[in-house]
Amino acid sequence: MRKPLLAGNWKMNKTIDESVALVSELAEKVKGVDDREILVCPTYPALKPVADAIAGTNIMLGAQNIFWEEKGAYTGEVSGPMLKAAGCKYVIIGHSERRQYFGETDETVNKRVKAALKYRLLPIICVGETLEEREKDVTKKVVETQLKGGINGLTTDELLLTTIAYEPVWAIGTGKTASPEQAEEVHAFIRGLLPAEVKDTVRILYGGSMNPGNVKELMAKEDIDGGLIGGASLKAEDFAAIVKY
Ligand code: PEP
Repeated sequence: MRKPLLAGNWKMNKTIDESVALVSELAEKVKGVDDREILVCPTYPALKPVADAIAGTNIMLGAQNIFWEEKGAYTGEVSGPMLKAAGCKYVIIGHSERRQYFGETDETVNKRVKAALKYRLLPIICVGETLEEREKDVTKKVVETQLKGGINGLTTDELLLTTIAYEPVWAIGTGKTASPEQAEEVHAFIRGLLPAEVKDTVRILYGGSMNPGNVKELMAKEDIDGGLIGGASLKAEDFAAIVKY
């Protein structure tokens, strides 16, 4: 049985004070929920203050990226030990915005995934097709290439620590959600690509305009094990409603 994971990707939103206020309000609203995992991924400056604010609650902390080196002359990057020390348990890797605006490739995604695992952070690897790719009917080919590139060289034990997020790019921040059937088709396809020893254990999250109104029918699908939520995770009330779908 896979425990659902509801993960809020706050992207480049909220100051430190706003982040602490948001997570404190969320903590009140999701108190006592223990049959699913709740994760928030704030900006780097807010990581430690949010970690302090969620101490003793059922909310976990994640980062939005990780660099593969441990330290050194890599201006603007943040390493695994730094994220670990800030209180992170998870890290999002290969989000489509990273691929689109910051030149992330399957190869760099793979390096970041390996770095996360090296420093005992749980990677959430994002894959997903653009609208153009869906219209050209190459969704499965794109997702397969991204998935295989992202998990290349991982051992069975490492794969068991990994979460995949299927995020159709055309559904991110657009208000357009993949229908539960469209999402399930790709989720089942992704599960089928995973090695037999891990495929029933690895969680596959859906991401793309998930909201309190559509979460229930998405989560009813067999291969959808949670959500990676952007916009709706920025309002405590909405994110709490998603968590308690
Ligand atoms: C995301 O950024 O991962 C995402 C799914 O965003 P939104 O929920 O806003 O579509």
